[in-house]
Amino acid sequence: MTLTTPKTFTKTWTNSADPAAKRDMWNAMKRGFFCRCPNCGEGKMFRAFLKTADHCDRCGQEFTGHRADDLPAYLVIVIVGHIVVPIALWIETNYSPSVALQLAIYLPISLIMSLWLLQPVKGAVVGLQWALRMHGFGDGHEH
Ligand SMILES: [Zn+2]
Repeated sequence: MTLTTPKTFTKTWTNSADPAAKRDMWNAMKRGFFCRCPNCGEGKMFRAFLKTADHCDRCGQEFTGHRADDLPAYLVIVIVGHIVVPIALWIETNYSPSVALQLAIYLPISLIMSLWLLQPVKGAVVGLQWALRMHGFGDGHEH
C-alpha cells in the first residue's frame, strides 16, 4: 500500500475572488459618518436632518433600501451615556457642585451631543448596511 500526498487545492476562496462582492465596511461606515455616499464617498447621503436622499447624486447609488430604524438613536444614547455619565461621576466625586448647577450643564450637553451625533451615526449605520448588502442593498433588490 502506497501513501500518496493529497492534491493541494490551488484555488482558495477569498473575498478578492469576486471583487464585485467586496465592499469595505469601515470605509463605508466612515463615509456614512461624514454623511457621504458609502459607494463613492462624494455624493450627499441626506436631503434633510435624518432623511436620506433617494439616491446618490454622483454615482446613483440608491439609499431607499436602508433600514436604520431606531438603531442610530440607541447607539447615540449609548455613546452619549458613556461620555456624560463618567464625566458627571468624576465631577461629583472631586468637586460635588450643586445638583442644579450639574443639571444645568449635563442636560444641554447631552441634548446637543445627541443632536450632533444622530446624523453621522445614522450615516454610519446606513453605510454598514450597504457594505454588508443588508436589506434593500442586496443584489436581488428584495423589498
Ligand atoms: Zn455615490
